[in-house]
Amino acid sequence: MSRVALVSGGTRGIGAAICIALKAAGYRVAANYAGNEEKAKAFHEETGIAIFKWDVSDYADCAEGIAKVESELGPIEVLVNNAGITRDTMFHKMTPDMWNAVIDTNLTGLFNMTHNVWTGMRDRSFGRVINISSINGQKGQMGQVNYSAAKAGDLGFTKALAQEGAAKNITVNAICPGYIGTEMVRAVPEKVLNERIIPQIPVGRLGEPEEIARCVVFLASDESGFITGSTLTANGGQFVV
Ligand code: NDP
Repeated sequence: MSRVALVSGGTRGIGAAICIALKAAGYRVAANYAGNEEKAKAFHEETGIAIFKWDVSDYADCAEGIAKVESELGPIEVLVNNAGITRDTMFHKMTPDMWNAVIDTNLTGLFNMTHNVWTGMRDRSFGRVINISSINGQKGQMGQVNYSAAKAGDLGFTKALAQEGAAKNITVNAICPGYIGTEMVRAVPEKVLNERIIPQIPVGRLGEPEEIARCVVFLASDESGFITGSTLTANGGQFVV
């Protein structure tokens, strides 16, 4: 029987590419999303992948959503914490709401999701948790104090939880993408992309969502069991850790 994978924020951008790659690799996949019904329905119609709406920043919503996924697809063996948002501005203009929204989704979301699959993974002595952090969690980025703090927190979460999961054959790893050509990045004016962003990337282009998806498939596999607590950097050479 194929393994079950749940991808948060799986209906567009990097998450959608992850769902498609996991499905192609033989997983039964569930894609969570927050509220963009149009994108989610189009994704479901195009791929046949099951979609489930809930807010990862809400613990009770996660508990209910995960129970629904497990009743429809079976126990979750691979969890990809991919859902993320930005609320960018310089720190002196950052409101408590902008801080809280990003921390609640991008960091507390990892607790809410992972905590609700952890006991099952421990009981079955198998699990793969893959957290999509960011280059900006590694290096910091002006205008993104909230986002950089949350994404750096994701790395601490990964390293600590990996140590707890190891004896139960549960791996916990992070991926730090650089600039990836999702809607969010493609929305940046072409002049800014070409003159300011792409010149910072030694390979001379944006990354593709599929390039991050391949990292996920690698870390999710049964054969990757010796890799835990690690950070896989995929940024075209922009920041060498
Ligand atoms: P997108 O904005 O394209 O997609 C975000 C997805 O997350 C959507 O499916 C969205 O659902 C979902 N989502 C957002 N908030 C919540 C929530 N509270 N609960 C459930 N789902 C939620 O993002 P990207 O594909 O660009 O980014 C994916 C991940 O990769 C993020 O964590 C991001 O920080 C990280 N990343 C992205 C980079 C990039 O260059 N794009 C670079 C480095 C890291 P809905 O469609 O319903 O809104």
